[in-house]
Amino acid sequence: MIPLNLPAMAEATRPYVTRLRTRRDGPLHSSDAWLVEESAEGSAFSGKHGLLAIDGVPAGELDGDVVLVQPQIRPGSSGRIERLLRAGSRHNTLLVTERCDQLCVMCSQPPKKTHHDRFAYLEAACLLAEPGSLIGITGGEPTLYKEELLGMIERVLTARPDLAFHVLSNAQHFERGDIDRLRQPVFRRVSWGIPLYAAEPALHDEIVGKDGAFARLEESFAHLMMARARVELRTVLLAPNLAALPDLARYVATRLRFVEVWSVMQLEHTGFARNRWHSLYVDHRRDFAPVAVALDHAALHGLRAQLFNFPRCSVPAPYRHLAVASISDWKRKYMPACAGCREREACCGFFEWHPDDQANEGVRPL
Ligand code: SF4
Repeated sequence: MIPLNLPAMAEATRPYVTRLRTRRDGPLHSSDAWLVEESAEGSAFSGKHGLLAIDGVPAGELDGDVVLVQPQIRPGSSGRIERLLRAGSRHNTLLVTERCDQLCVMCSQPPKKTHHDRFAYLEAACLLAEPGSLIGITGGEPTLYKEELLGMIERVLTARPDLAFHVLSNAQHFERGDIDRLRQPVFRRVSWGIPLYAAEPALHDEIVGKDGAFARLEESFAHLMMARARVELRTVLLAPNLAALPDLARYVATRLRFVEVWSVMQLEHTGFARNRWHSLYVDHRRDFAPVAVALDHAALHGLRAQLFNFPRCSVPAPYRHLAVASISDWKRKYMPACAGCREREACCGFFEWHPDDQANEGVRPL
């Protein structure tokens, strides 16, 4: 797994954002910190906030990374850097809050009650992003801080016309008053990843742990449609909604025709799902029929669909082209047998925390 947090010591006493540089090529910025020393133990960078020593990763692997430096606050406490935007990665995602107003049965990142406002740091990081980056935003629920979120997006995309955002949101907080704002041209470079688990309101509400969530989501969809927002619909495959998938496909194809793409996602073995694995996980190798019916219906109605977190060899051949390399590089693994697979480049592999015995059992190199 690629480490996103590294031990560090900084001269500064307050957190700051900087871009680490080992070479003087590409556009320079006053927030850059330059490599001044490298040894077997780590590397030292110097910038306008002073010296910064980082352990654990060779300097060359950090070149171009935009990091949040959390200095040693008290004697004896350890400092660290958080790699907010890794250079060359297509999987950079910024966590804006750990609070959420839903409690999904399979939540991969169970919410916390407290919120630490990091918007100023995240905005500074985005302004230093590599040209042409697509930056993910996640939570918790980002729109609990909708004003801060939309303000950050507007400022960043105005200053950086080359960037785009993909925001994961439960869409419980869009209102009629947001329509004009979301119609602004900068929001053409924002797509919203919004989960919907069933067309039956009671089932969706049960999965997300919130009464009335489906009805509120329908309201938000109406506002987003009026705003001509770009929406990626997301459905995690679960034992409770497997049989309801064909109905959901019919609902999406008739009521939500404005969505750009529908992503059907396999479950992640972490967070709440870890302890509920046996009651939630669907082995799609044995029970693909409802997924196939849903995908056929989507195709028939011109709705683009894709499969996330489905290793390609586990998907029946007629649907394999829909299984994309969805798992972020830093949390992705392949099994030993994958070494000889011709489709490895296009395959998502497995989450780092997926049980090895289960993964090994299903691997069939293509
Ligand atoms: S063998 Fe490995 S790389 Fe190939 S499709 Fe299966 S999981 Fe993916």
